[in-house]
Amino acid sequence: LPPTPTALRPTASEVLSRVFGFDSFRGEQEAIVDQVVAGGDAVVLMPTGGGKSLCYQVPSIVREGTGVVISPLIALMQDQVDALLAVGVSAAFLNSTQSAEERDRVERAYLAGELDLLYVAPERLGSESTKRFLANGRIALFAIDEAHCVSQWGHDFRPDYLSLGDLAERWPDVPRIALTATATDATHREITDRLHLSKARHFVASFDRPNIQYRIVPKNEPRKQLVDFIRKEGAGQAGIVYALSRNTVEKTAAHLQANGITALPYHAGLDASLRQRTQSRFLREDGIVIVATIAFGMGIDKPDVRFVAHIDLPKSVEGYYQETGRAGRDGEASVAWLAYGLQDVVQLRRMIDESPGDLAHRRRMAAHLDAMLALCETVECRRRNLLSYFGQPSEPCGNCDTCLDPPAVWDGTIPAQKLLSTIVRLKRERNQEFGAGHLIDILRGKTTARTSQHSHETIATWGIGADLSEQQWRGVVRQLLAKRLLATRGEYGTLGLTESSAEVLSGSMPVPMRTEPERRASSGSARR
Ligand code: ADP
Ligand code: ZN
Repeated sequence: LPPTPTALRPTASEVLSRVFGFDSFRGEQEAIVDQVVAGGDAVVLMPTGGGKSLCYQVPSIVREGTGVVISPLIALMQDQVDALLAVGVSAAFLNSTQSAEERDRVERAYLAGELDLLYVAPERLGSESTKRFLANGRIALFAIDEAHCVSQWGHDFRPDYLSLGDLAERWPDVPRIALTATATDATHREITDRLHLSKARHFVASFDRPNIQYRIVPKNEPRKQLVDFIRKEGAGQAGIVYALSRNTVEKTAAHLQANGITALPYHAGLDASLRQRTQSRFLREDGIVIVATIAFGMGIDKPDVRFVAHIDLPKSVEGYYQETGRAGRDGEASVAWLAYGLQDVVQLRRMIDESPGDLAHRRRMAAHLDAMLALCETVECRRRNLLSYFGQPSEPCGNCDTCLDPPAVWDGTIPAQKLLSTIVRLKRERNQEFGAGHLIDILRGKTTARTSQHSHETIATWGIGADLSEQQWRGVVRQLLAKRLLATRGEYGTLGLTESSAEVLSGSMPVPMRTEPERRASSGSARR
């Protein structure tokens, strides 16, 4: 086909209004679109819901040829393509779920220049045959979505992304735009380096989502806490509850249903057609709560999700930010609520210790978890902590739990010393290691079958911690783990000292701790 004369091609703002039905671009969208339409490269860091898709969809339509979109989320390609077809944009995808015939049809349409957008899974672009095929058509641009997947330091590394750097050499004249909602400095640098985007313009949007209220509470009775939270603040509203395991997802959904909340489970173990039905009910009906593993939500564009609740600790701040970012895309007040407890820390640390992969990989995962724990245990503004993690300084926000209800800080040095010296004694005198529960029984002087069996009543620290409740002790253990003043070991998660523990024992390191809200709210009156 001969190229369409420039004069006949629509401008970006015409496409925006005629095709997508929007009056104006948002934020930096216009500058980004202009950059790519003019043939330049772009790196776009924009939070979830910021409007990344238009940044490559509009230039794909304006420019001659097909916009090739690399997206790792095969399950979402169909949705994205359907949404485009619905507004009259010619779009298709190529991935492993298709029959040979479907693939043929898409390939012919591409070669005939009939497609505005073609979505491709990253592993396909690693293959020479795909590249040869693409070279036989006309490419308007490459859009690399979820570009943080190229970062080995990130939380979502995908090896297939590494080969995308070659696009620059093979198609030097085709503009490339890389987009992500994850934006630590390190990830940003890696995207730029590995995707060979040295000449790109960089567009970094604010990662603040001011309408989302961040709240993090210690986990005691997660299901009850969750029901209370939803009844008080999310009754009849759409929400997403995230849990780590399929089993927890199933049980939690059943528990919510038993409490009169319309909750549906969603995880990768469920039948695809059921998942599809669940997803469309969530999109179409009011007030559905989805209980899901992280498999749910990527690319789901529901503007009025009023809350995102986590009943297990996310593995990274990036993941937490991305998942909570699914709340309040419409800009209305929404809540991100997280309950986390000692067991989460123990379990995630163990998963890291036992994970396959080299030491460097485990160290990275540990660093991600530590940053998440620091966010949980901070006595300062949550949003400020979150934004500073993404390299964006800010003032206390006034719309998170610590701003609204500043936590009391108490001096946990003496309890910490009691706990650490119990661990030291058991190790030194008896060569024994125990988990949190048993150590707390010793400190509180609570006789159990196990304490009798080991005659732990004779230990010097027996009962010296009776002034704190079991729950308070769990808080102490959790905070010491978060501060790496205590470590878990082995398959049973027994507790041991770290390099820094000695400084606590010697009294040279004070240990300020966050007062658990439960102590104040135990009367049953939660803060409004
Ligand atoms: P992201 O990919 O950054 O998470 P999306 O591209 O899915 O965000 O956009 C989020 C929502 O904002 C979508 O519903 C989209 O239609 C809407 N949107 C994006 N740009 C505009 C705009 N300029 N005007 C109005 N709505 C927009
Ligand atoms: Zn705040």
